[in-house]
Amino acid sequence: MNASIQAHVEVDLKAIQANATAIKAHTGGQLIAVVKADAYGHGAIPVAEALHTIADMFAVATVAEAIELREAGIQKPILILFSPLPDFAEEIIAHDLTPAVDNFTLAQEMNKVVEDGKSQSQQTSTEKVKVHIDVNTGMNRCGVRYTEVAAFLKKIKTLPHIEIEGIFTHFATADETDKSFAHLQLERFSSVLASVPNIPMTHAANSPAVLAIPESHFDAVRPGLSLYGIYPANEKSIPLQPALTWKARVGWIDSIEAGEGVSYGLVYKAPSRTCVAGIQVGFGDGYPRPLSGVGEVLIGGKYCPIIGRICMDMMVVSLGPQDKVAIGDEVVLIGKQGNEEITIYEVAERANTIPYEILISIAKRVNRIYS
Ligand SMILES: *Cc1c(COP(=O)(O)O)cnc(C)c1O
Repeated sequence: MNASIQAHVEVDLKAIQANATAIKAHTGGQLIAVVKADAYGHGAIPVAEALHTIADMFAVATVAEAIELREAGIQKPILILFSPLPDFAEEIIAHDLTPAVDNFTLAQEMNKVVEDGKSQSQQTSTEKVKVHIDVNTGMNRCGVRYTEVAAFLKKIKTLPHIEIEGIFTHFATADETDKSFAHLQLERFSSVLASVPNIPMTHAANSPAVLAIPESHFDAVRPGLSLYGIYPANEKSIPLQPALTWKARVGWIDSIEAGEGVSYGLVYKAPSRTCVAGIQVGFGDGYPRPLSGVGEVLIGGKYCPIIGRICMDMMVVSLGPQDKVAIGDEVVLIGKQGNEEITIYEVAERANTIPYEILISIAKRVNRIYS
């Protein structure tokens, strides 16, 4: 372990590559690797570089995220999952990005940017901006309503510089055991597909649908969480390897007397003489504060409970009376140590949230180390 680092995240890029390869083998089509929110906290640039020969396309949420990848030299197509504001038309074209489109204004604005560019440079080549049409089949957060897609496509086709490369929808409940609404969404999507001329890339599946709804695989799939080795629900049809381990080091050790309190508010009171250790990780690093008095960490291959309130930069754990722990010893917050493991599922459940939020909350100041 690098002695100059207090706490860090280890990212196993080979695990991400293996997960991506397994997903591709399982679905048989193209892979749109979702690397939004800094690749779910794993680091968008290193992850995109690692997946460059496996993914057919990358997907992000915002134009800024896409530009970050372009500036790092990523040349694969980049899909922006949510129709950007029309203000971004120029940047989308300048960086050769592929936006989701769910309104005419953005398409019109991009068409105009290409047209204006052509009149200025006197070029005659028919330059086209590729777009993917976002279809709202019931999630109701974005997209063109499924009943209105045919009319919308007719309008888009009046724009000579817009090329419809893809069409997609997104599931609202694919991670639930009851798949009936997901199947209704699929039916609606299929009725749209039947009513429009063939579009090269049809896609729908997020991670839960990749794992549990084979009929949703179409030409391409759009997994995020599963690429990072985490199951969104109980379906485990593909073996996945978690890619992230969160480690820290013991920074302080003391023993406190019965009745003494620990951390802000002194809400924890030692029932008897207790050995305690301070660890320089807190909610400022994205460690969930609700784990105060509830969570555990691994030290020396043993579970140590977090006592008192988690602070912004520190937490305190109690050590067993026999534990031989020294300053600088390794602490595991998420991942394996010896024969024991703290999974992201346990951390998320104790924090009353989902693994997605735990991952994307790990702060920038926590160094990512790649292997
Ligand atoms: C985030 C997102 C995905 C990936 O979802 P996972 O559950 O992480 O696989 C796919 N498609 C869209 C539109 C998304 O917003």
